[in-house]
Amino acid sequence: MQIGVTITDLSGKILYVNPAEANMHGWTTEQLIGKSASIFAPSGERRPMTADQIREMRSWQREVTNVRRDGTTLPVSLLSDVVRDEDGEPVAMVTTSEDITVRVTAEKQLRDSEERYALAARGAQDGLWDWDLTDDTLYLSPRWKEMLGYQDGEIGSTSDEWFGRVHADDRDALDTEIRNHLEGYASQLSSEHRIRRRNGEYCWVSCRGLVVTDAAGKPARMAGSMSDITERKGAEQRLFHDAFHDALTGLANRALFANLLKRSIGHAKRSKLRRYAVLFIDLDRFKVLNDSLGHSYGDRLLVALGGRLEACLRPGDTVARMGGDEFIILLDDIIEASDATRVADRVKHALEAPFTLGEHEVFASASIGIALGSANYEEPDDVIRDADLAMYRAKSRGKGRYEMFDKEMHLNAVALLQLETDLRRAMDRGELRIYYQPIVMIETKTISCFEALVRWEHPTRGLLSPGVFIPLAEETGIIVPLGRWVLEHACRQIVEWQEKFSSEPPLTVSVNVSPKEISQPDFVDNVLETLKTVGLRPDSLKLEVTEGVLMESAETNVAVLRRLADAGIRVLIDDFGTGYSSLSYLHRFSVNTLKIDRSFVDALAGADENVEIIRTIITLARALGMTVIAEGVETEDQHRRLMALECEEVQGFLFSKAVDARAAEELLVQSRSRPTK
Ligand code: C2E
Ligand code: CA
Ligand code: CA
Repeated sequence: MQIGVTITDLSGKILYVNPAEANMHGWTTEQLIGKSASIFAPSGERRPMTADQIREMRSWQREVTNVRRDGTTLPVSLLSDVVRDEDGEPVAMVTTSEDITVRVTAEKQLRDSEERYALAARGAQDGLWDWDLTDDTLYLSPRWKEMLGYQDGEIGSTSDEWFGRVHADDRDALDTEIRNHLEGYASQLSSEHRIRRRNGEYCWVSCRGLVVTDAAGKPARMAGSMSDITERKGAEQRLFHDAFHDALTGLANRALFANLLKRSIGHAKRSKLRRYAVLFIDLDRFKVLNDSLGHSYGDRLLVALGGRLEACLRPGDTVARMGGDEFIILLDDIIEASDATRVADRVKHALEAPFTLGEHEVFASASIGIALGSANYEEPDDVIRDADLAMYRAKSRGKGRYEMFDKEMHLNAVALLQLETDLRRAMDRGELRIYYQPIVMIETKTISCFEALVRWEHPTRGLLSPGVFIPLAEETGIIVPLGRWVLEHACRQIVEWQEKFSSEPPLTVSVNVSPKEISQPDFVDNVLETLKTVGLRPDSLKLEVTEGVLMESAETNVAVLRRLADAGIRVLIDDFGTGYSSLSYLHRFSVNTLKIDRSFVDALAGADENVEIIRTIITLARALGMTVIAEGVETEDQHRRLMALECEEVQGFLFSKAVDARAAEELLVQSRSRPTK
């Protein structure tokens, strides 16, 4: 009997097995009796059935893969039946099994040949090929030849007719793919490669094929199809190119640059001798050009600039556009720092000639930051960040120059970042204080006004002066809520003092306002709202603005200052004389007072011409209906001279530093001989 028979009890233990079954699985009958029938199943599969399942069971046919004693597998067809006693209760199970290897193999072959048939059918549109491996002859269909631009008779029948036309760069890959299929690692041949057409151009083809074995199982032929995928490849390559290049300039983009930089970082890590450098380049005043000539000219400048930058490079170096007017250069493999500065010099030089953009000729300059890399960096972003920091330094030191990144810049940047984080919390945590510095009438030295000067009670660094954090607050926009806070609290304080110490005219307060605050659309509304809330008369408030406010976006600011003046709030130009404004220009603005900068007061003791400058300012201010305050008065001598010049009010350490509210109140007590309370 070629049919195996096994009888098991209800727990699956083998009670009987015939020699055919034992042989089929590589055991003897004796070895199997008493074992579990799961010995035939691949490990972990086929759990024994439960008693309930067996009771319900009718005959059960299935095809499974069994394992032999030596671990090889064996496809079998099984038929199981339950043996029952007189009451119909199951007592045992009989299973017959049949080796179906031959049938399974035949079915697989059928499937393969169906696949081949499908390939052939597709070959009607595609090219067909059939390669006889025994004598290396190659049948190529007319369509195959036509795809490459040949007539049927123009191509012979050796395999070289195909492989000889494959692009040299793709030959190895194709060979490997063929070998993989012949040796059974790949179920079919599937290859995309370039192939030369009759006109010498290459086209991309996709090639699929299957091996056909002879009776002994040896590969005899390989046959398949070839289709033209040039268009798809082109689209793919365009997508790939677009993903890594800047659309405007065609240069590498940030992503590609980061990839290349990562490679340089890797090289430097492996070899101590390899160094590289990154140059971060930012156009100076690009925004001005963009705003005045329009974006299309801005774009043209960027394209032209990209071209000039490329011309500055050595082979192997890369220039990329980071976005906006920022470019970045990677110098791969340099020897010393001067190699990088030399390129920076070359870039500067390349920008000296004007750019011709249509009918316009424009000059451009750039600020450049250099970061030198050796084994000290891990990530591309770190190098780029440092080069960027150095670029900022170059820009702040006066544009059109380059700076090399150093450790100190990094520490500064880190400290600044920490400060910013702290500053954002400072207001919520109530760490801001207002100090008050008196402004006195020059003749009587009585206090007419307090300038509110903000301080920050930093949890670890102690009391910080505004010079440390106001610039940061302006840059980050924190100045807006900070300014509102100062305004409200200073006004409240003055209301309190006005009630305690009545005087005629009433005590006033002077609050500093930065340009960023003025440009808030709701600035005036907010000031008026605050005055109403705290109950301060508008003419008790002075706002100190710098000349910059008058110069930048002058038109909108004229309107803002006019609204303030209409509401009765006085406006004062702080640090007068340090900016660009001329006195003649000032009359356009509703300004009440000029505060002469400390530097002029300092110079009073020196040459006569310094006295003359102040005299001129005071004379002209008076002619324009403005009053004058001198700040930074530290000596009796300065005070006397200012008095002689008929300056109205003075402020400075001679009278008092800025002090906290309690000390300021003391000053008021001394100043006003008769407090009302
Ligand atoms: P500023 O408005 O020019 O304020 C005058 C600065 O000169 C104050 O420094 C003051 O303490 C100092 N000073 C006064 N008298 C003398 C003197 O006789 N000799 C010397 N050497 N210095 C004197 P402070 O308080 O450090 O303020 C610095 C700057 O911070 C201020 O300059 C102002 O521009 C800004 N600032 C202060 N508080 C605020 C604020 O609440 N908002 C805004 N936007 N800026 C503020
Ligand atoms: Ca001021
Ligand atoms: Ca000032």
